[in-house]
Amino acid sequence: MTATPRTYWLEHAWLGTLPQAPGSARAGGTPIEPGVAVDVEDGRITAVRTGTPAPPPGAEVLRGLTLPGLANAHSHAFHRALRSTVQVGSGTFWTWRDIMYATADRLTPDSYHALARAVYAEMALAGITAVGEFHYVHHAPGGTPYADPNAMGEALVEAAAEAGIRITLLDTAYLSSGFGQPPTTHQLRFSDGDADAWAARVSALRERDHARIGAAIHSVRAVPADQLATVARWAEERRAPLHVHLSEQTAENDACQEAHGCTPAQLLALHGVLGPRTTGVHNTHLTAEDVSLIGGSGTGTCMCPTTERDLADGIGPAVALQNEGSPLCLGSDSHAVIDLLEEARAMETNERLRSRTRGHWTAAALLRAASADGHAALGWDGIGTIEAGARADLVTLALDSVRTAGPLPRLGAETAVFAATAADVRHTVVAGRHVVRDGAHTLVPDVPGALARAVEALRA
Ligand SMILES: [Zn+2]
Repeated sequence: MTATPRTYWLEHAWLGTLPQAPGSARAGGTPIEPGVAVDVEDGRITAVRTGTPAPPPGAEVLRGLTLPGLANAHSHAFHRALRSTVQVGSGTFWTWRDIMYATADRLTPDSYHALARAVYAEMALAGITAVGEFHYVHHAPGGTPYADPNAMGEALVEAAAEAGIRITLLDTAYLSSGFGQPPTTHQLRFSDGDADAWAARVSALRERDHARIGAAIHSVRAVPADQLATVARWAEERRAPLHVHLSEQTAENDACQEAHGCTPAQLLALHGVLGPRTTGVHNTHLTAEDVSLIGGSGTGTCMCPTTERDLADGIGPAVALQNEGSPLCLGSDSHAVIDLLEEARAMETNERLRSRTRGHWTAAALLRAASADGHAALGWDGIGTIEAGARADLVTLALDSVRTAGPLPRLGAETAVFAATAADVRHTVVAGRHVVRDGAHTLVPDVPGALARAVEALRA
């Protein structure tokens, strides 16, 4: 956070407000403001002055199109080590999982810190200002706690600080390998034994300026039904976010039906897990009743389209969920791709492939999922608009790259979602601090090198 007041001058800005009437995307796009001065102090925006055609003296110039910072609402940082290496051969989600477990076996607090620092730096370069880390590799292999039982979680919180982004550590309860089945050998290091022991460990974690602590239930497979309420109560008492992988695979639904005679969403509802601070991740294979339960309870939905397509999961009913009241956010999950603009674009284009119609969301609505609603799902308020009082989290996209050159500047949100990629991010500002300047990370000098070394260390 910067305590010293400073001013950023935004050549063009999408202010993040949503005044558009339905259909306005077709009627003429999403207006953006040319020439906006943004005053920042103590990590917050203190004033926004539109109609400022030239940079005020001393202002930091953000040339291009500036948006509110992006939220990556679902991450498993260590999966970044699998990128491309898991693309050899065929298989399913379940065969991919075996390879993922082999990587998890090799993590230590030090190696995980190094990898996560590089991955979070990659996220900053992609304009991501907050990450929701769905964290379940808690203990040493075999399940022995480290001297500090939160050594792995602390490594992730520290990694985010060093990479200059916010983190919500979604500390994950992971207790069983399936309904009524103990953890497998690989999963022993994920487990605290029972939900009370999980709660005792997680309660020792402390929030910091850049870090929130939330809860997660890995899935209905991994937390016995009679212990779901313990995790939900822990989150409720702290007003903390609670995330859960939900119906990503039909096999999970089938096993849940066999064990409990209901769907995973129904089981979560029965044990008090659903609600406005809860986010279901994937929400792919749902019944119409599930969609009503999730939407009617205000439970959010985190879509991870690049991972869902990579793992051959299927396409979740995002339109129906939103229509029933479920706010949508986005995550890069397995990090096959780290690009929130691509996640936003893919949510819309997946729906086009399925429905054979276009325009399910406006570009502005997709950006809202990638920013304001993502931050809210992670427990961060005041991010997602550029206005006085908001947190000073910004991302600036080049408008002169081979991808973005051409469209009229007034098509701001459309250019961001349907033309730009993470490679177009020029600046990232988190809590008023200039973390990425002119495409270079200001805190981690060689992000590709850091990634290469961290991934190689896990292969050795
Ligand atoms: Zn996940």
